[in-house]
Amino acid sequence: MSRVRGWCPSAHRPMMSGDGLLVRVHPRLGYVSADQMRTLCDLAERYGSGMIDLTSRGNVQLRAVRAADHSALLVALIEHGLATADPRDDIPVAVTPLRQAGGLSERIGGALYGNLAELPEMPAKLGVVVDAEAGRALADVSGDFRFEQSARGLMLRADGAALGWPIEDYDPRQALQDMAEWFVAHGGRAAGRMRRLLEQVDLPDDWQVAPPVDAVAPVSPSLSDGRLGIAFGRTRAAVLRQIMDVAGAEGALVTPWRMLFLQGATGALGDLAAQPDVVSDVSDPRAVMDVCPGAPFCGSSHLDTRAMASRLTGVVDGRLHLSGCGKGCARAGPAQFVVVGTDAGIDLVRDGRADDAPFAQALDETQLAARLRTAMAK
Ligand code: SF4
Repeated sequence: MSRVRGWCPSAHRPMMSGDGLLVRVHPRLGYVSADQMRTLCDLAERYGSGMIDLTSRGNVQLRAVRAADHSALLVALIEHGLATADPRDDIPVAVTPLRQAGGLSERIGGALYGNLAELPEMPAKLGVVVDAEAGRALADVSGDFRFEQSARGLMLRADGAALGWPIEDYDPRQALQDMAEWFVAHGGRAAGRMRRLLEQVDLPDDWQVAPPVDAVAPVSPSLSDGRLGIAFGRTRAAVLRQIMDVAGAEGALVTPWRMLFLQGATGALGDLAAQPDVVSDVSDPRAVMDVCPGAPFCGSSHLDTRAMASRLTGVVDGRLHLSGCGKGCARAGPAQFVVVGTDAGIDLVRDGRADDAPFAQALDETQLAARLRTAMAK
């Protein structure tokens, strides 16, 4: 079984990173109202560096928070509905942004909130995905317990299993409870993630019955439709505040694709293209780049990923993932090329994930750029 690497920060349990505490906010149903967004921006400036990250699970991170300020920040987040009062309720639930208002995914997500504290204590990296529409939008988003559709209706699928458990006539909360208890009873705490546990232990047969429906095509930024990307998933609080003001939006869905889906926008959306870090459409090469925080923000990183991403922008015609180490925080799914920092230099993976076998190893940046250009020329 592979080693469990690290743990995920939350509002209650921040993580020390290279620039101070990292506080991760899990927006309920992935939605942040305009007031909540302004609050996040104010808090990021008051207690942190003013930098805000959008993560590959659709969460929001405040960076460089001072340890002495964490309690005050947490109180403010709870007060504004941006964190749960009970830390046991603070399990990340990614609800598909491609959903019908009031539809099944939203109803399941809503039902789970408030019941998460009932689940057995589980490793901090675990997450729930609610992707219960006619096509799966979150197929590449990390999550251990996955509500999806099948030809037999709603099902719950353990991550790592090809088939899922039809639960059309079952309460989704109870189904999650049952699978979480099975996970813990079979060594899930030591394994850390469902996928790793299933390398050792077989699921019950009746939880491996139905294949999920197909994944839908990836969504691209499109300003006129209210979908805007944030380059490399990071910007300043001042920029986010300006985006909400210019858009005149009621709120935004924070997506796992480092995009905001603006809701109820009445402003001149085209004007947002002038904002720094805004990716307004798919012709911007940054729309297909996934970049982890890297050095100096992450102590595990062998690369200054963001600086390197700026230098490599436009080199690859396809999805490029830059990862400071083999953990691959920025993207759980495959990419056309993955640049991975190691002790020995830079590894390059093709059509895979950060922990897949590289086709080139121990490169320096000049060699890396040459390899990428050669591969693109073929
Ligand atoms: S992938 Fe990047 S952010 Fe994640 S642990 Fe490695 S260096 Fe840090």
